[in-house]
Amino acid sequence: MTPAINILSPDVVCKIAAGEVIERPASVLKELIENSLDANSSTIRVTIEGGGRNHIVVSDDGHGMNREDALKALQRHATSKLANEEDLYRITTLGFRGEALPSIAAISRLTLTTRSHDASTGIRVRVEGGHIVETVETGAPYGTRVEVDDLFYNLPARRKFLKGEKTEAAHVIETVVRMALDRYAVAFRLIHDGRSLFDLPPTDQELARIRAVMGKEVASHLVPVNYRKADYGISGWVSRPTLRKGSAKGLYTYVNGRYVRDKTLSHAVSAAYQGLIPPKTYPVAILAVVIPLDELDVNVHPTKLEIRFKNSSEVHGMVTHGLMHALRTGPVDGPSQPEQPTVREKEPSYHAAVTTVMPTLTEECWPWRTVGQLMNSYLVVEFTEGVVVLDQHAVHERVLYEQLRGRGPARLPQQRLLIPQLCDMTGDVVALLLEHRSEMETMGLELEEFGARTVAVTAVPAVLHDEDITSLLESLARQITLIGKADSVGDVVHTIATMVACRGAIKAGRRLHDTEVRALLQQWDALGRPTTCPHGRPLIKELSWGEIERWFNRS
Ligand code: ADP
Ligand code: MG
Repeated sequence: MTPAINILSPDVVCKIAAGEVIERPASVLKELIENSLDANSSTIRVTIEGGGRNHIVVSDDGHGMNREDALKALQRHATSKLANEEDLYRITTLGFRGEALPSIAAISRLTLTTRSHDASTGIRVRVEGGHIVETVETGAPYGTRVEVDDLFYNLPARRKFLKGEKTEAAHVIETVVRMALDRYAVAFRLIHDGRSLFDLPPTDQELARIRAVMGKEVASHLVPVNYRKADYGISGWVSRPTLRKGSAKGLYTYVNGRYVRDKTLSHAVSAAYQGLIPPKTYPVAILAVVIPLDELDVNVHPTKLEIRFKNSSEVHGMVTHGLMHALRTGPVDGPSQPEQPTVREKEPSYHAAVTTVMPTLTEECWPWRTVGQLMNSYLVVEFTEGVVVLDQHAVHERVLYEQLRGRGPARLPQQRLLIPQLCDMTGDVVALLLEHRSEMETMGLELEEFGARTVAVTAVPAVLHDEDITSLLESLARQITLIGKADSVGDVVHTIATMVACRGAIKAGRRLHDTEVRALLQQWDALGRPTTCPHGRPLIKELSWGEIERWFNRS
């Protein structure tokens, strides 16, 4: 029997279409923030609960909609961004498919509240599973607010695919970061379960935004890129070779204002770094490519994350050239090893793979000879059996980490501040820090409450004497938030110790005296010569004489 053909009901069609665009809370956010940006908003506020699985709100101060448009916007293929086919080839907005709002509305309970600048009141429309259940006039500020509750409540199979709260929250953060890095003139605020994760003021300095998002350390490694060739242009910031990442996650590429993931671009970036950083390591780069509108097809993928270049080899050449130019003309050394603000790392296995061939150090016996420093970042040490190369920042970071955790021979000295340093921050950050005061105290970092939005720092581990304490505390709070409540105190302690160690450790790019190298190696030796930094990255590489001799066919 041949199967009968059914024409699908509009409800099912809508759910199928929604499935293409909306995969998880972060996809809802991407669409809503894109709409807010397209509406020329200058402030975008995002609130989520439960990683966005239960509640997402995006409110903006953009141009809003009148009553008629608000109702139209919820229908499929309704857009103010395209009028005809030709427009498809000159898209300047982030949206154009007219699908996001109806798709989200089909698979959630959505409330749209909006007021255009010429209207005396706003309108609120409530939709459940794609059906309008209420339309009322209401007082509302100018702009638009979209509230999305119970995502996938009517698609249980999809809801089951959602990951845990923390994973979904991480996707949400990444989505906001992608937008915020490029649109630095727009203020972004992100609140998760009542806690502020970002509060980024508008700025006309891209680097200021990058610093606010990625941290001071990362920002200090960046050099500007600015290159034009005919109608093509590339601008942004890229890291010097002193900064290396274990993954390509620090690569943010935008084409004509749209965040994209594109092989041509990522390959062009790697090509520029070839020979500058080791294979399988990655730079940080925030790059905006501008090309003529008609040389770009953005209508390739429902989520618009992928694009097609008409002339990809031209784009590739321009990007590589632009970066090479920036990397070779900028200053070449500088501090290294970033703090990684949004990545949570596991505690290192302390006694893992301790180096075996090196002799034990004692005061009388100093069998090592410091050959020197490479790039002011790596220590080359010769001993009877061979040569080792050590990452000075990573070694010191590990030493400090162990000291902060009360392990190893010596405690870390503490510096009391004669005049407490007052750090202003948001109320929720203050509360969070005070909650973990005792953990910080064990490491020499002492705080006191000083009003609802200020903490007074009364003592710091001495290694932090010239660090920006406010920014450290903010990063700590951000990291602790990411850990969440479910995890043990151990994780919080690990996180604090890791971040303090990272900030306090000798930076890559710093020239060290022989005596400093010795002191460092002695401390590291006393700890049993751990082989990884607190983030788990290797800190030592050994070369035996046998290996070296084999290179030259001498053995
Ligand atoms: P698209 O963005 O592809 O046009 P959407 O379904 O995302 O499709 O939105 C439909 C329309 O609703 C948009 O074209 C826009 O006119 C209007 N709209 C959506 N969100 C906003 C907003 N935050 N502010 C003003 N108008 C909006
Ligand atoms: Mg849209």
